Amino acid sequence: MTKKKALITGITGQDGAYLSKLLLDKGYQVYGLLARRSSPTIWRLEYLKVLDKVTLLEGDLTDIASISRALLASEPDEVYNLGAQSFVATSWEQPLLTAGATGLGALHILEALRQVRPQARFYQASTSEMFGKIQEPMQSEKTPFYPRSPYGVSKLFAHWMTINYRESFNIFGCSGILFNHESPLRGIEFVTRKVTDAVARIKLGAQDKLALGNIDAKRDWGFSGDYVEAMWLMLQQDAPDDFVVATGRTTTVRDMCRIAFDHVGLDYEKYVVIDPRFYRPAEVEVLLGNPAKAKAKLGWEARTSLEDLMRMMVDADLARVKRELRP
Ligand code: NDP
Ligand code: GDP
Repeated sequence: MTKKKALITGITGQDGAYLSKLLLDKGYQVYGLLARRSSPTIWRLEYLKVLDKVTLLEGDLTDIASISRALLASEPDEVYNLGAQSFVATSWEQPLLTAGATGLGALHILEALRQVRPQARFYQASTSEMFGKIQEPMQSEKTPFYPRSPYGVSKLFAHWMTINYRESFNIFGCSGILFNHESPLRGIEFVTRKVTDAVARIKLGAQDKLALGNIDAKRDWGFSGDYVEAMWLMLQQDAPDDFVVATGRTTTVRDMCRIAFDHVGLDYEKYVVIDPRFYRPAEVEVLLGNPAKAKAKLGWEARTSLEDLMRMMVDADLARVKRELRP
């Protein structure tokens, strides 16, 4: 039997690494779009020991020619568009770059698919940030959107383009509206990883304080390793559809800190200081997803609790910081 082939944009990111591992374990041939950077970005693929098992093709979401070439070279059955400028705070500093990579980038792929690989199934990495100023206490696929950042607006454009290409050109396009998901591979600028890195440094005597912004914000946090399974499941269905992927539990940044510091026997209140530099021009105060449709139709459920997730991340950061501090 010939192997199924997948092309992943954003393969060097958190989800790209976990999805590569999942697809390789399922017997896929995995290709990834690798954006040119001045320093290497492959550490996550090394961490999960998949770097030598994937094929990297040079290309950038803002360059449709490179995407078409990657599609022609890989001839994928499935395309996962995980590439994005994904950090909300940066999207106010670089709104045009964000719109280009996160918004228009998705359209570049859809248009390239339409032209050179219309039979491939397409996954778009949509986000709970599209709900922004929430219009319902628990957000589902039917909740109206109200994005609050250039990132959220760009993702909403990509989300509707995915639906439009599905309805206009019969592209098998699915949009996964994923709530925040984390792991030891999360970028250090995101709040969970910033906290677990600080917990490790404080515990090992390499840092005194942790400066945060709005610690009353609430998020529905899950584990990236669980969430990439939902992406794959969406593309295995008989018909394309959109799904919320979440845990159904929301927690303040404050309580997430408490859980992380507790794990090493420290009291977060002694270390966390508030620095208004980390406040955002417009905040998403609370997100809470309703994963009922994903459970009913995909048979998917989050398996990792926030407590287990924070312990996993703190332990990984303790091991890493210990290595870094070794003389
Ligand atoms: P990361 O920020 O870890 O990864 C983003 C990836 O996109 C990196 O591989 C990056 O490459 C790549 N990329 C950025 N710009 C370009 C470009 N112009 N051309 C090609 N590639 C580019 O994100 P995550 O893995 O956490 O998230 C995956 C996707 O899911 C993203 O689209 C994100 O917005 C979305 N999402 C994430 C959620 C989360 O909680 N993690 C929640 C909901 C949605 P490089 O390494 O070279 O910078
Ligand atoms: P986001 O939900 O995609 O924006 O993920 P983040 O992890 O970046 O932020 C989650 C929440 O934590 C937001 O409401 C932030 O305002 C809040 N937060 C509070 N302090 C910080 C901080 O120092 N860094 C980050 N990244 N977020 C913070």
